[in-house]
Amino acid sequence: MTPVLQVEDLKKHYPVKSGFLRRTTGTVFAVDGVSFSIAPGETLGLVGESGCGKSTVARTVMRLVEPTSGRIVVEGTDIAGLSKAALRPFRREMQMVFQDPFSSLNPRMSAGDIVREPLLVHNVASGREADERVAALFAQVGLRPGQMGNFPHQFSGGQRQRISIARALALNPRLIVADEPVSALDVSIQAQVINLLMDLQRDQGLAYLFIAHDLAVVEHISHKVAVMYLGRIVEYADKTSLYRRPQHPYTEALLSAVPVPDPKLKRRKRLLEGDVPSPMRPPPGCAFHTRCPYAEARCKVEAPVLRELAPGHVAACHLR
Ligand code: SF4
Repeated sequence: MTPVLQVEDLKKHYPVKSGFLRRTTGTVFAVDGVSFSIAPGETLGLVGESGCGKSTVARTVMRLVEPTSGRIVVEGTDIAGLSKAALRPFRREMQMVFQDPFSSLNPRMSAGDIVREPLLVHNVASGREADERVAALFAQVGLRPGQMGNFPHQFSGGQRQRISIARALALNPRLIVADEPVSALDVSIQAQVINLLMDLQRDQGLAYLFIAHDLAVVEHISHKVAVMYLGRIVEYADKTSLYRRPQHPYTEALLSAVPVPDPKLKRRKRLLEGDVPSPMRPPPGCAFHTRCPYAEARCKVEAPVLRELAPGHVAACHLR
């Protein structure tokens, strides 16, 4: 099956400029060679701590920031270098939902107008037809069409995220890139929004790139999970394999922080210490060696490559 999205060796490097002449004095390696693919109707969870580059992956895939290099293949076409005009039809295929629905929704527009806007911009519908489509989208995401005239501040956080989802659905996309879509919500509301996304996937065959900073949030919704550290994927597997048999010490550490439902089922305690190093000066060798409890001399000089350790399960660690 042709993937909805295929990302190959994606890089996003930012030059650091300083001094009176604004000379380039360094480089931030925000994303440094990331590859993955998402099939129709599939969810890839992309996880990692703040600053690991996962939001930059999302924004680069959406071409909200320009990639330094690499391929972003949507429906068989590499969109990485397309002009804005050539990109336009692909924008309909891919929509984004942001973390903070309050700042991503225009406070001066009614909820109905927010959801209607993409229909007008892309000349998909107008007038009565657009009104009917917006009302249907409201119902689809669990909002009352009678709320279309209300403004964002009149909704709760969970309802505002539902408005964002309705807007993202307006153009019938095949892929939604959701960047920490539930992180700003209460835990009980998080589950409701995740269930809504799963229902929409089941009904419409949507694919998701679902970004979160902890593995607990992506466990329910993902089919595959990729774990990022300092701009690179360090482990990638189907959900069951990754949660049952994590191979990378970083994944193991992230999992140790995930609460387990049965208190008798203790997870190995190996909590993560220290902060993520600066992506301007990633440690040599294995970038995780400064925090890894298993690090050996080799890890400080030789970067491990991603290797397939079981069918479909890859990890980058010298000890595996
Ligand atoms: Fe730890 Fe070495 Fe494996 Fe890196 S390569 S994760 S430092 S054991």
